[in-house]
Amino acid sequence: MDVLWAPWRKTYVEKVSKARKKGCVFCRILKENKDRERYIFLRTEHSFGVLNIYPFNGGHALVLPQRHVDSLEKLSQDERTDLMDALIKVKAMCRKAFNPQAFNVGMNVGHLAGAGIPEHLHIHVVPRWSGDVNFLPALFGTKVIPISLEDTYERIINENKGRHRKERR
Ligand SMILES: [Zn+2]
Repeated sequence: MDVLWAPWRKTYVEKVSKARKKGCVFCRILKENKDRERYIFLRTEHSFGVLNIYPFNGGHALVLPQRHVDSLEKLSQDERTDLMDALIKVKAMCRKAFNPQAFNVGMNVGHLAGAGIPEHLHIHVVPRWSGDVNFLPALFGTKVIPISLEDTYERIINENKGRHRKERR
């Protein structure tokens, strides 16, 4: 898993630390209500799903509680249930849109564990296909992802019509 998250880590951490000066990026995009621009594709009562803008793989999504908390035990029972339901929904949406062969689902809690934004819990959902673990990231710190974020977003929305809560204006 270390290798899995490593490729984009440096740029990601640099960009995130800049963004962090303006407050929590996850809380900010949630309040902005520009779901399409911010790649938020699911909102539930207490949670939301958003594309990772520094994806490891095509369709790499994050599932988060709406409330700004840094550890699982701080979530209420309702929030925990909703987060797990949202995770299952996001996984189903990714499956429908991208038909992956497998998923990595997981979270890094705290800086030491590799979390880029440790102050706001987030669960990674990474679709996997046979042969996608290529040597490029490890060698060159980069990876070519064959689908743009815009296309990824369109696809996850279009393939899951009716499940997505409409963007509020
Ligand atoms: Zn936050």
